Amino acid sequence: LASWVGFSNLPNQVHRRSVRRGFQFVAMVVGESGLGKSTLINTIFETTLSPPKVVPEPGTDRGKTVEIQSTAAEIEENGVRLKLTVVDTPGFGDFVNNDDCWKPILDNIEARYDAYLEQENRVNRLKMVDNRVHACIYFIQPTGHALKPIDIEFMKRLHTKVNLIPVIAKADTLTEEEVELFKRRVLADIEHHEINIFSPPMYDRDDDETAQENEEIIRKIPFAVVGSDQVVKAPDGRNVRGRSYPWGVIEVDNEQHCDFVKLRQMLVRTHMEELREKTNDVLYEDYRSEKLRAMGV
Ligand code: GDP
Ligand code: MG
Repeated sequence: LASWVGFSNLPNQVHRRSVRRGFQFVAMVVGESGLGKSTLINTIFETTLSPPKVVPEPGTDRGKTVEIQSTAAEIEENGVRLKLTVVDTPGFGDFVNNDDCWKPILDNIEARYDAYLEQENRVNRLKMVDNRVHACIYFIQPTGHALKPIDIEFMKRLHTKVNLIPVIAKADTLTEEEVELFKRRVLADIEHHEINIFSPPMYDRDDDETAQENEEIIRKIPFAVVGSDQVVKAPDGRNVRGRSYPWGVIEVDNEQHCDFVKLRQMLVRTHMEELREKTNDVLYEDYRSEKLRAMGV
């Protein structure tokens, strides 16, 4: 076994119900071409599960502006099944006019809500398939300056529909100080534009360990990520997944080097259930009531 993920170790009630049914978790990646989306997907799957398979997205027209592709894999851990799907969206921001490039992504997210709603309305609801997007990882170009209009537009259009997780792409192209400054600037922009991003909620009932774990995750937001599908030799001779430079090696799985581990930990281990609950109880619920209202139900 390549790695132990830890999703089967969550001790709460919701989890125990999910244990019997098995988990379905869908994450989507969005961002301009070349920011490392495909590489990060591979890195997540390589460090989480193997072997992934690409499944064709039902109902996707070829030649549309933004393509939607999903990769899924099933893993079992301590008798708990997880079906993890990552949805890629190549083409975002690649056009002369990018005014509406958020639209096909919103359409896809809503189509998944509609498919779920349709199942809820069936008489037999025993075999519900949950293909709703539970987390949307948005890649920010590591300019070191500020968010771009396309980032702001996308996040404003999507933040009430999906759990948004902004990340600083290719963090190895910035120095440590630049990353810190850029993170602060990005958070200030997000606040200024009143965009809601996903942040682990803190509860009074949390024990110290959980509270500390959450604080450590929150402190890293927006995660500065580095992806790599290559194994390189670290100065001390270890073989590590990372990127090699004349001045040294950036290790994907080293928390001192980037926030990939924290991001993956939040998605797959500590906050998967939280992301699923918020999707179901808040984001989907808002969509559903709005839709039913519009239909005059
Ligand atoms: P996508 O268009 O967003 O899917 O980007 P890709 O994953 O195809 O990556 C584009 C290029 O950037 C490739 O040459 C990757 O090797 C490289 N790349 C991917 N992730 C990183 C990263 O974290 N840091 C650096 N420096 N390069 C990366
Ligand atoms: Mg790609």
